[in-house]
Amino acid sequence: MSVHDEFRAPLVTMVRSAGRICRRVQSELCAADSVDKEDRSPVTVADLAGQALISHLLAEAYPDLPLVGEEDSTPLRADPALLASVIDRVRTEWPDADEEAVLTAIDRGSAEGGATGRYFTLDPIDGTKGFLRGDQYAVALALVEDGVPAVGVLGCPNLPHPSGEKGLVLVAVLGGGTMTLPLDGEATEGPLCRVSDRTDSEAIRMCESVEAAHTAQGDSATVAGELGIHAKPVRIDSQAKYAVLALGDAEIYLRIPTNPRRREKIWDHAAGSIVVTEAGGSVTDLDGKALDFGQGRTLAVNRGIVASNGHVHDRVVHALRVIA
Ligand code: AMP
Ligand code: MG
Repeated sequence: MSVHDEFRAPLVTMVRSAGRICRRVQSELCAADSVDKEDRSPVTVADLAGQALISHLLAEAYPDLPLVGEEDSTPLRADPALLASVIDRVRTEWPDADEEAVLTAIDRGSAEGGATGRYFTLDPIDGTKGFLRGDQYAVALALVEDGVPAVGVLGCPNLPHPSGEKGLVLVAVLGGGTMTLPLDGEATEGPLCRVSDRTDSEAIRMCESVEAAHTAQGDSATVAGELGIHAKPVRIDSQAKYAVLALGDAEIYLRIPTNPRRREKIWDHAAGSIVVTEAGGSVTDLDGKALDFGQGRTLAVNRGIVASNGHVHDRVVHALRVIA
């Protein structure tokens, strides 16, 4: 038993609860036949409702631990109709939520993070573009301690659990492995998953963002060529890419910045990276340097992301020199 084990069950329960809100909104979105494809309000509602709910549950369970969350209440304070929709959604999981409690909960997510102590990171819907398309997205919650992820939970409502049932939760605890759970149900312990042991270029599967603005897909293709990989990359939105690696269904995830000045956000990688490392894989930046989650709200001293099954990691970092 590690000191972080006690976080596993409560954090899984919170992610499941937010996942149910996301699912309902996404299914209504897909069922509506006259959806305005440019209308981002459904994802905004689900995003804000998810952060309100999880932040409220964290405040009840761990009142002293700060939260670094993606969202803040600014859009809600300017838009009473949006606030009403968010409260409706939140009440499906937190029945006595009111305006003030929802706004306060969302704004608890403004912590700065840092190199010492414990705090949570939350992306209530990672992969909003995927969510809107009806594809993959993730609810990503992590506990970071002294700049290192200690617990990570990824809820992936549209990824299959190994049983075939739709909806997967992966939960990793430092030193304790990565457990596989269904999104539905109550179980908070399940079998451990493991990265694949493939090393042969012919057999290696690479994944990357669907969105060309989020990663330099042309550069990734050049690196794949350098590694002798001929298979087309698998494109998946959100931290579901880390889940696919942890399950052994891909060997490499590359994220190459399209804008050299942009820094990755810690809530986009804290849960995913521990899910992969505890399943036996490796996660670094493009220079092979460990991710430093202690720099505040961004990975300020890292450039891009390389995640792998571990066996091929050095080869990938070496191959990245072709695009340097
Ligand atoms: P993915 O689905 O893997 O592309 O990741 C979605 C995440 O990409 C979002 O949570 C954003 O924080 C992040 N993102 C948004 N714009 C960019 C960008 N220009 N470069 C890299 N990541 C971005
Ligand atoms: Mg995100």
